[in-house]
Amino acid sequence: MTGMDQLDRATREQIAALDLRSQPLIICDVDEVLLNFVEALEGHLDRNGFWLDKRSFALNGNIKYLGGHDPADTDQVRNLIYSFFAEETANLTPVVGAREALDTLAERAEIVLLTNMPDRFRAARLENLTGHGIHHPVVTNTGPKGPAVIEISRKSGNPVFFLDDTPGNVSSVKSAMPDAHIIHFIADPKFAELVEHIDGISLRSSNWPETLDYIVSVLDQT
Ligand SMILES: [Mg+2]
Repeated sequence: MTGMDQLDRATREQIAALDLRSQPLIICDVDEVLLNFVEALEGHLDRNGFWLDKRSFALNGNIKYLGGHDPADTDQVRNLIYSFFAEETANLTPVVGAREALDTLAERAEIVLLTNMPDRFRAARLENLTGHGIHHPVVTNTGPKGPAVIEISRKSGNPVFFLDDTPGNVSSVKSAMPDAHIIHFIADPKFAELVEHIDGISLRSSNWPETLDYIVSVLDQT
């Protein structure tokens, strides 16, 4: 099975449509890396009678009924995430320094935003990002990101950088593309404290200026 077979049709089509130069490539997640996801999710949960118990980096099991510790079940969690994407994608705010860092990096690298969300929310995501001055191509994906990263990297040059907050995506890309410079970026300070360090990555950060310095230092050496 090739990587392409593991991708949804929408993801395959969006990757096929990318027009990238043979330059260093930065594949960057959106939620909790470029946009403040957790903070907005907590507001959405509260309006719907739930709260997020930030005791581990997971939504299943940690979304609970307001006023207690009874967890929402898996279907409720999925519905809350979908209603969040439907109602709040247009309203998310940028992480401090994210746009400026991408602007600087775009002068010497190709940038692709790879976001795990149902494709029907892509238009709202694009509109929100554009409104914040973030104009890089957006690819929607489902599941671990390794296969999509391999396919995108076939269309550009080296080195390849990958940024994501979700440990499963970091691990997926680490095994799919061991040469990639992987940056485990978690904007939310509480979640950043909770998540275990993953061995073999290049940088762990919650801070765009630091992340920019790291990427520039690698680019300067290549
Ligand atoms: Mg994310």
